Amino acid sequence: MTITTLEQLYARALPPNENGCIEWQGSFVNEGKYPIVAFDGEVHKVHRLAYMLAHNVTLSMRQDVRRTCKNNTCIKAEHLVMSMDANTNAKLTEHDVLEARRRYAAGESAYALAKYFGVGGTTMRKLLARITWHYLKPDPEPELERRPKSE
Ligand SMILES: [Zn+2]
Repeated sequence: MTITTLEQLYARALPPNENGCIEWQGSFVNEGKYPIVAFDGEVHKVHRLAYMLAHNVTLSMRQDVRRTCKNNTCIKAEHLVMSMDANTNAKLTEHDVLEARRRYAAGESAYALAKYFGVGGTTMRKLLARITWHYLKPDPEPELERRPKSE
């Protein structure tokens, strides 16, 4: 079964307990410690997927989702919060910066990119404006010579 909605995720969990927690009953790894689920061809931690489905967002690897209820198997969206690490700004790589600029040029907003990369809006706007990371050059365009010639 392919999971595409929060309801389908909840269908594989127990009904809410006395704390309102919806406890996962599907797959686990690491001796039952980490609830996981396959989604869109990738394996996700279930609570991260629940957060993404509930808020219709894609989380970057840097954006961590934690449970306010401290229940390790809980996937109730209302119990999940994104923890914005204040240090995430330092974790951008050159690859990230180039990708952000490429996507900005392709029409994505600075706000959306800041959210995706888990950095502040100011940080994102500065790197897009080349105030920071100004020395980075974009990848060279693919060379035409590499294309197979039709003769
Ligand atoms: Zn909970």
